[in-house]
Formats: sequence, C-alpha cells, structure tokens
Amino acid sequence: MRFCHAATNRYFMLDIYVSIRHSYRAMNNTVLIIGAGGVGHVVAHKCAQMADVYHNIHLASRTKSKCDAIAADVLARSGVQITTHAVDADNVAAMVALIKEVQPDLVLNVALPYQDLPLMDACLEAGVNYLDTANYEPRDVAKFEYSWQWAYQERFQKAGLFALLGSGFDPGVTNVYTAWALKHHFDEIEYLDIIDVNGGDHGQAFATNFNPEINIREVSAPCRHWENGDFQETCAMSMHQPFTCPNGVGTYEIYRMYHEEMESLVKHIPTIKRAQFWMSFSPNYINHLTVLKNVGMTRIDPVMYNGVEIVPLQFLKAVLPDPGDLGKTTHGRTCIGCVIQGKKDGKYKAVYIYNICDHEECFREVGSQAISYTTGVPAAIGGRMIMTGTWSGQGVFNMEQNDPDPFMDALNKYGLPWQCIELTEEQARALRVTD
Ligand code: NDP
Repeated sequence: MRFCHAATNRYFMLDIYVSIRHSYRAMNNTVLIIGAGGVGHVVAHKCAQMADVYHNIHLASRTKSKCDAIAADVLARSGVQITTHAVDADNVAAMVALIKEVQPDLVLNVALPYQDLPLMDACLEAGVNYLDTANYEPRDVAKFEYSWQWAYQERFQKAGLFALLGSGFDPGVTNVYTAWALKHHFDEIEYLDIIDVNGGDHGQAFATNFNPEINIREVSAPCRHWENGDFQETCAMSMHQPFTCPNGVGTYEIYRMYHEEMESLVKHIPTIKRAQFWMSFSPNYINHLTVLKNVGMTRIDPVMYNGVEIVPLQFLKAVLPDPGDLGKTTHGRTCIGCVIQGKKDGKYKAVYIYNICDHEECFREVGSQAISYTTGVPAAIGGRMIMTGTWSGQGVFNMEQNDPDPFMDALNKYGLPWQCIELTEEQARALRVTD
C-alpha cells in the first residue's frame, strides 16, 4: 500500500510518504533507550505508559546511576520495571554487544547529537531499527545538517531497516504538523513559519531548557532561513519581533534562527518558497548569552588551562543548572506551532497549528519540565509508530515522509493535544495568531 495524495496536488508529485510495508521481522516489543538525561527521563515514563506496545524497556547511558534513578521513578509512578545498563554509545562494538544482549526492536536515541552516527552504525551491524530527536553534529564545529545521516540511506535500505530522524517536537511534531496541513488543508504550501515559545520561568539567573552545550551551540550559530530556492545567512539573533501566543500564554520576543527541520521540509515539500524558524528568548537570557559569548565562554575549540585542555562551552555546561532539575521550580507554559500559508483550490489559505504545554502539569505527571516533556512524548510516539508497524519502510526517513494522521491522533492521546485555527492573510503575514 502506498499513501500518496499526489492526485490532489497540481504542481508536483508529492510522493513523500514511505511505502507502508509491515516488517516481517518478529517483534518482541522491546525498546533500548540510550541517554538518561532530561529527555530520556520522559521517554522512559511515556514508554512505561504505553505498555500495550513497549513490553520490555531497557535504558542505557554512560552513567548507570542516572538510569537507575529514572527506573526507580518509573517503578514508583507506573509500577513498570525498567532494566538499566551502562554503555558508551560512542563505542560501536560496545553498543553492538548491548543490542545483541537486549534484542530490541528499536534503539531510541536520546543521548546527544554526537552519538547519532555511532548509534546508526551499531544498529546496522546488529540489525535493528533506529530513532533519534536531533540531527548529527560533529563535536568540533557547530554544523547542523542532515547530510551525514542521509548518507546512511542505502545501507539502511539494504539492511531492510527503518531509521526515523528527528522525532522530538522541533524537529518532529513541527514536521508532522506541516505534513498534516498539506494532507488536509493545502494543495500547495508556500510559506512556513515555525514558532517555538517557552513562556516558562525557572527562577534561575541563567539556565538552558535542554542540554546547555547543544542549546548554546544552536543559538550562537549564524541564522539561516530558506528563501528563493536557497538558505540565506544572516547574523545570529539579528531578526526578531514580538509574538502573542493564544490562550493567554503571553507575548514574547521571538528570534529568527536556523533549525534543522527546515532542511528536510524544503526538500520533501519543494513548493515552499520561504521557511523560517523562530524561538523566544527573554532579555535576561540574551544578556547572559551575549556576555558569555563576549568573554569566550561559548567557544567550542579547546584551550589550555593549567596544563589541561578544556573546551570552554563544555566547562560552562558543568557549572550551569542541569535542565533535568528545572522541573521543580518552573512554572508557565510553552506554545510551539506552525503558521502555514499556501493555496487550496486556487485560493489563498493560512492555518496555525499548535500545542500548549504546562510546565507544572508535566512535573506532576512525570517529574520533568515541559521542554523535556514536549521532546520525550513525540520520541515515544515515534517509537510506537515503528513498533506497531504503523510507520515502516527501508531506509532513512524524516518525519514528514510518513502518514501524519496516526501520529497526530497519538499526540492527542499521549499528552500533547493540538489545535488548528484558520488565519486571514493579514494575520498570517504578521504572525498574528490571536485577535
Ligand atoms: P541531557 O544532557 O540531559 O542528556 C543526555 C544524556 O545522554 C546524558 O544522560 C548523557 O549521559 C547521555 N550521553 C551522552 N553521551 C553519551 C555516550 N557517549 N554514551 C551514552 N550516553 C551518553 O540532554 P537532553 O535530555 O536535554 O537532550 C537529549 C537529546 O534530545 C539531545 O540530542 C537534544 O539535542 C535532543 N533534543 C531534541 C529536541 C527536539 O524537540 N527535537 C528538544 C530538546 C532536546 P550520562 O549523563 O549518563 O553521562
């Protein structure tokens, strides 16, 4: 069976859905989660809540005590047992040995982007499906692109394995929102604005919402957005505007920056004329980041200190609050969504699809703040799509290449309900989503 709505599309064959071909590999409903950080904590909880699919949950990280703490919390909240392991995911041989021992159907990677390629290598060698939430980055240069992982396409195809890239919120849900909008609301998408607002307050002088090293690398990188058939580069954080979220979440300054989902979305939906990604930052965050950058603390090249080589950004991470600990003190809500403009039946159309997530509710449910939650839930749902054969195929796939409907249903069911509202042209152009 092939999901394809090319017939409804006037200008190009939108053949982006993967062929749905149920795997003949016998499933033993076992997942191996890699990474016991903020996101790993939520993924473990959510997999435990989906006991119909995840019968056996294994969690491995460099530090086994972190896995044990998560396993104890899951046991206390859901009564589900998780088996824990210590592993260095950079070591392919060690990972292959662990995969052979655990026999999972899926390796769910929520370690750091640096581990993507070694984990994909291990999955190929051990013959298991793969999922992650962030694209590969080399340690020595803050470069965000899918080229390294797309290069695995043929090897995953030949091995008959499914690799799902970017199953977090952004990338992840934002890709699925766009695919769903194309399937149900548009013949052609022309303009895409992804807007990620964190209206939460953690009460700290300065902290990042997820891994500080990855977050600061992302935010300090030059901005790139898609326009006129290419990525246009501008200075980091140079373009910004206020954005008022719906449902009283508030008004925040959003900054245009580069984000990886634009790369896959403009590839798979080639009618997109302009794609931009916006993220909110408080004046306090910007001030701290500016100072840290000016004094060299965000550098990713090694410097000598007392005869020892240190990377300033890695040292900074060591002294900043652990994002996984912010849940206790964070209140407020996140609001992440897509403003999409295009054509339907020859006429202009615009929609805003979004989710609002409450930090304190997430903490009550799983003991995490909303950033880890909004990443961990889609990761567990992506795994669910693979483990049930709802999404399948051979090769390396981005989220928008799969049928969005079952994923959108699962978001409503497992904690990230979404809304879709229609906008006027004037509203959409100004990114005004409230009256
Ligand atoms: P954390 O730093 O909290 O956790 C990362 C975990 O990975 C740590 O527990 C760490 O190990 C483990 N780890 C690192 N290196 C290795 C290794 N070599 N072998 C085994 N384990 C390792 O990060 P987050 O939980 O905040 O983020 C996890 C991922 O989610 C990141 O890739 C991030 O980019 C992504 N993300 C995606 C988002 C999206 O919407 N798509 C949003 C937010 C994050 P240990 O502590 O055991 O030493």
